[in-house]
Amino acid sequence: MTTGDRILLTGLTVRAFHGVHAEEREQGQDFVVDVELVVPLGVAVATDDVLGTVHYGELARGIVAAVERDPVDLIETVADRVARLVLADERVERAIVTVHKPQAPIGLPFGDVAVRVDRTAERLLRRSHVVIALGGNLGDPAATLDAAVAALGRLPGLTLTAASRPIETVALTVAGPDPDKPRYVNRVAVGETTLEPRALLGDLLGIERVFGRQRLEHWGDRTLDLDLVAYGDLRIDEPGLTVPHPRAHERDFVLAPWLEVEPEAVLPGRGPVRDLLAALGRPA
Ligand code: ADP
Ligand code: MG
Repeated sequence: MTTGDRILLTGLTVRAFHGVHAEEREQGQDFVVDVELVVPLGVAVATDDVLGTVHYGELARGIVAAVERDPVDLIETVADRVARLVLADERVERAIVTVHKPQAPIGLPFGDVAVRVDRTAERLLRRSHVVIALGGNLGDPAATLDAAVAALGRLPGLTLTAASRPIETVALTVAGPDPDKPRYVNRVAVGETTLEPRALLGDLLGIERVFGRQRLEHWGDRTLDLDLVAYGDLRIDEPGLTVPHPRAHERDFVLAPWLEVEPEAVLPGRGPVRDLLAALGRPA
């Protein structure tokens, strides 16, 4: 960051229809937005010209339009939407966005409830290439994986560049392949992240949880399994985090979809994915 200069816009009040409850979607309520932008103001001072800064009138109108449109369940989602909007201006280095919902239907006397997101412009952060494997064999796994890929695409700090088609395989249990269990569907998504490996894994496990996976049995049936296959060329072996994923090199249902989206892929410490797949008797 170059300076500590900031622009603050507070108390922007927008009537909108966000919320989980039917009444919120029908009647709407006020959402109050505060934004704090870290933006160097030297050019504005040097020229005394609005072209040298972020025009707060336009900023306010853009935020109102973003908060008004497309009702969602959570003010977290609204805050993220506003942060992405204001960070689209390349002068803005960091955005701190607070969305208040003072009339939230809590059913108790309360002063205010709000969420705040604090985001640094992605262009200022180091990015790492990541490979994520998705799998599931309960419910409608193809639909679950579509929804999970969409969720990964919205995860702050992760930008997906490609996702493979789904492939189907026989369930693998501790005792070996089990054709009587529901078949697995697997995909691989690749992208760029500004999150640290542990933060990214934490988010992957959080998405698994939201999609209802229950860890009942090691390698048991699951709604959604998300594995961090590779993070740049990092090699990590810590409690709860091993990268590359320790079994990726022997799983054709990881290697084959990965190769589909990245034909020249290399698994750090193991070699070209094409060769690893060939060694499993599944030449590409
Ligand atoms: P697997 O995905 O290897 O078949 P599990 O999903 O049951 O097995 O393993 C989950 C645990 O493995 C998680 O609690 C997580 O902390 C740990 N783990 C360690 N490294 C990774 C990784 N790279 N990707 C996903 N989970 C990992
Ligand atoms: Mg896993």
